[in-house]
Amino acid sequence: MLGLDPEVMRAATPPFADLFPTVEWQVGGHCNYDCSYCIQSKKSRVGQPDEVRVDAILAGLASLPASVRWEVKMSGGEPFAARLFLERIVPGLVERTPHLVSVLTNFSAPAKSLERFVRLTGDRLRITSASLHLESVEPAPFLERARLYRDVRREVAPKSSFVINSVVVPGTVARLLDVQAECEAEGFRFFPQLMKMNGGVFDYAPDERPLVERLLRGSVDPREVNRAPSYEGLHCEAGVWYFTLDQDGEAWSCRTAKRFAKARVASLAKARVACLDGAAARDVASLAKARVASLDGAAARDVASLGNMVDGTFALKTRGGPCPFSICPCTVPANRGIVRLPGREASAGSLTPPGLVRIATTEVPHG
Ligand code: SF4
Ligand code: SF4
Repeated sequence: MLGLDPEVMRAATPPFADLFPTVEWQVGGHCNYDCSYCIQSKKSRVGQPDEVRVDAILAGLASLPASVRWEVKMSGGEPFAARLFLERIVPGLVERTPHLVSVLTNFSAPAKSLERFVRLTGDRLRITSASLHLESVEPAPFLERARLYRDVRREVAPKSSFVINSVVVPGTVARLLDVQAECEAEGFRFFPQLMKMNGGVFDYAPDERPLVERLLRGSVDPREVNRAPSYEGLHCEAGVWYFTLDQDGEAWSCRTAKRFAKARVASLAKARVACLDGAAARDVASLAKARVASLDGAAARDVASLGNMVDGTFALKTRGGPCPFSICPCTVPANRGIVRLPGREASAGSLTPPGLVRIATTEVPHG
């Protein structure tokens, strides 16, 4: 049973005309690549959702406030590596919900699977964000698949968009400039993403910074580059009209909120264990573990959790507020009007028309 807050049910339309409700669903943890710069730890890149979980999540997504269309942006791990992706997840989204569908993929799936995805989603397909991981694939075969994919999209989903994104890995920037030119010569959008590390942006060597700026063309526009800026203090509707969802149905206000909550829980757990001396720690190890487990739920929920869509505890927040974080690593909240960047306020007050709307094609550096 989905626990949507009654207050949210009453306020069923976004407060800003240019706010596009969005869910980022990590449909599975498993990935067939192992990029050295992946923001997901190797041990977290595991897992496949089973039928029960998938169906419960689809039911939850179908129950979101329906006065406007949501965009469900699927990622992983690698979404196409999830066993049920093309069998159950995508068909279920299309048949059981009214939502638009986007995907963030490493684009390694066979051309046949990519084509099937486009045909399954049809005119519900919004954005395909294809991540070019030069550690695993050469540009030529990647672009070959992109051309085939473009042909199918033109036939089946002509209003959908496509962007090639690539992480700006230190030491590879000169090569990326060539790749950027190659992609653009083929008519594809190229979206560079600064590399994240330890909760911040990588500090590029002074001699590489001019190349990085050439690649980013000096832009700070989140529709063109991902610099993982800070929006601390700006009004944000994360948790109200935007949230992230993992393969187990756990929902969080945003990516940073989830990371912050988990880090906080870990440090609380460490502090609690540190209070115990050696013998006591051994004696009460299981008790401590149990306490930590219950602490997990309470502390994480306080900070950022929206509950779980599978076990029926999911609930959206009732209102947005100032962003409390010093980094917003993903451009989705900025480009969907979730965080209110300066200049957006002018459009406050009117309602979002349902149906297809222009959404910037920018994504996070994995998938
Ligand atoms: S601005 Fe970004 S980091 Fe801050 S609350 Fe919103 S989504 Fe999260
Ligand atoms: S960056 Fe993306 S493709 Fe690479 S390992 Fe991580 S999830 Fe997989």
